[in-house]
Amino acid sequence: MPGEFELIGRHFTGRGARREDVLTAVGDDGAVVAPLPGAALVLALDTLVDGVHFPVGFDARFVGHRALAVNLSDLAAMGAEPAWALLGLTIPSPDEHWLAGFCAGFEALARRHGVALVGGDTTRGPLTVTVTLAGAVPEGGALRREGARPGDDLWVSGTPGDAAAGLQILQGRLYAQGRAREALLARFQSPQARVALGVALRGIATACIDLSDGLLGDLAKLCAAGGVGAELASRELPLSAGLCSVAAPADRIRFALAGGDDYELLFTADPSHRAKLTALDAGVVLRRIGMVTEGDGVLVDGAPPGRDAGHGFDHFG
Ligand code: ADP
Ligand code: MG
Repeated sequence: MPGEFELIGRHFTGRGARREDVLTAVGDDGAVVAPLPGAALVLALDTLVDGVHFPVGFDARFVGHRALAVNLSDLAAMGAEPAWALLGLTIPSPDEHWLAGFCAGFEALARRHGVALVGGDTTRGPLTVTVTLAGAVPEGGALRREGARPGDDLWVSGTPGDAAAGLQILQGRLYAQGRAREALLARFQSPQARVALGVALRGIATACIDLSDGLLGDLAKLCAAGGVGAELASRELPLSAGLCSVAAPADRIRFALAGGDDYELLFTADPSHRAKLTALDAGVVLRRIGMVTEGDGVLVDGAPPGRDAGHGFDHFG
């Protein structure tokens, strides 16, 4: 069996993008990086636990992709450009085949976003993956959850609800076939963080959050942070063709409002930015789904959402 240091040498050295600002990476006691003057660092950490954040037996490539994607999404929501990652990996055994798959999934996404793997820790135990991701924004330029103002438009990227439908398909709880099945599965297995969108929203969005726990639950967090309410119209929700083909009309809305794991961005902006946002090409379609209001409640089609519309995933709820 390979030892810890052999594993680190083989699987974790030189992974991800080559970056000039990485002075010392894997192999020393700490990583040394040199951020540009005037940059503020943005740091995020997310943990994935086997059987909680992905199904037991989930393909190692997807575990590697998702572990980085969820962190990229947090940086996207801050308007940051990702740069350096640390990987905390706990595995039940040094399974080389699994590790190769995991690293391939992690690495492909890291390179696409210019992220270098600069360090981490490898331990034995129940499968758990923690990634710390650091990136940069110009000082004062970070997007925040707080800042939404009554009268702002409420926007969402992509087609929320797909990933939750994909998970149900994976679990055999929802039936789908052909292209719809592939498309929805991919949305759960390999989410695409909206990094370019986050950067483009600097100076435009008044508040921003990424969708991980369900649109309504995450909208409630954005509203609470800003001391505002929101109204949204279910007919404006952008629904994918795949979702529409596998779920009845009421269920589609429920997937879009309550489903988790979308990793899209939900943000607010002054109505004066409508034309600019409609024309914005950041690799994903944007849709205006409602507006920010005075007060503190969220209304869907003029009424408080029903309990089955969900309040977002809560590990201790
Ligand atoms: P230490 O004994 O100082 O904690 P380790 O033996 O844990 O160091 O790690 C040796 C080197 O390998 C360090 O540079 C560490 O950052 C890196 N490393 C360990 N595990 C990982 C991993 N899963 N991903 C990336 N780098 C790792
Ligand atoms: Mg260590």
